[in-house]
Amino acid sequence: MKPGAVIGMVGGGQLGRMSAMAAARLGFLVHVFSPEQDGPAAQVAAYNTVAGYDDLDALRRFAKAVDVITFEFENLPAASLELLESLKPVRPGAKILAISQDRILEKQFLNDAGIATAPWAKVESLAELEAAAARLGLPAVLKTTRLGYDGKGQAMLRSAEDLAPAFERLSPKPLVLEGFVDFGMEISVMVARGVDGTIRCFDTVENRHKHHILDLTLAPAPLGPESLQTAQSIARLVAEKLALVGLLGVEMFVTAKGDVVVNEIAPRPHNSGHWTMDACPCGQFEMHIRAVAGLPLPPAVRHSDAVMKNLVGPEDMALWPEILATPGLIPHHYGKAEARPGRKMGHFNRLFPKGALPGELGIEDALKLADGSA
Ligand code: AMP
Repeated sequence: MKPGAVIGMVGGGQLGRMSAMAAARLGFLVHVFSPEQDGPAAQVAAYNTVAGYDDLDALRRFAKAVDVITFEFENLPAASLELLESLKPVRPGAKILAISQDRILEKQFLNDAGIATAPWAKVESLAELEAAAARLGLPAVLKTTRLGYDGKGQAMLRSAEDLAPAFERLSPKPLVLEGFVDFGMEISVMVARGVDGTIRCFDTVENRHKHHILDLTLAPAPLGPESLQTAQSIARLVAEKLALVGLLGVEMFVTAKGDVVVNEIAPRPHNSGHWTMDACPCGQFEMHIRAVAGLPLPPAVRHSDAVMKNLVGPEDMALWPEILATPGLIPHHYGKAEARPGRKMGHFNRLFPKGALPGELGIEDALKLADGSA
């Protein structure tokens, strides 16, 4: 695609916003399709369609107005996706979306590719849950197969009494029971694959969560070379097996023994890739747009180590003026009008010379604001 071409972006949140900004830098125009007026992506896009994801007429007009379609929101109705695919190239494609939308298809795909996941079982009835819990052991994590994110749609089962209430509460069925992974670290890798099959993996990073929401990303993850490499190989294999065109995040657990198991995949830019915006010559959003637009993919090298800190809800946004006043913090605001609790409002990156990412004790210091607050 040449400058001036139009990229259709389904979804209007911060991932769409930062993709649109990267697209603009490459000379592309972005057309956002989202039910929300003036959302984070719409504010920076050339064109906007405000309509529901099931509005087939609006989707048809949108597809006709763009050259290629991508998305930052995975839970599109199947009929909508089918319609879009019949009209324009959709990258990544519908098959990848279907797999990543459904935890059972996702785990089946990963296991078929020889990639380890937590042991799991599909659960349609309480009797099946009891049998699965007996087989996998407790503790275990019961999850909805669809529409779960940031710890929503899941329940930790610690004892036999937890089974029935969790089964009742979670819907829609079927559910999936996962054996509990006693992990030492949560990590992720962003991988891109171009139209020509070139694969680029960003470095393996550590992710730390607070109240089930990503809080910090440390790049690179403080792990031995073997685990770092295993994570990269898994991400590469996922991209190859899916014949990905676009960008995809692979979330993984590292066990105490150093084994790497995949938790889930997300076929879009990912919160745990935000560090790349400032620590890599070509960050995840530019890589995403390049892959979608059929441009060459530059190496996913990093020039700096980085810590990314998410700004969530009103508490974190109260720090915004102080963040701006602190030298060395690179701020990113998502343009959301209202800071509701738990809502991702922005993030900042702090860079370090390569190899100089502070150790455990230095991380807190590295995130101190100019007024000395944390
Ligand atoms: P998810 O919605 O699958 O990304 O899960 C949200 C969080 O719950 C993960 O980031 C983990 O911290 C935790 N978690 C999910 N599945 C498991 C598991 N099988 N074993 C241990 N912890 C888990």
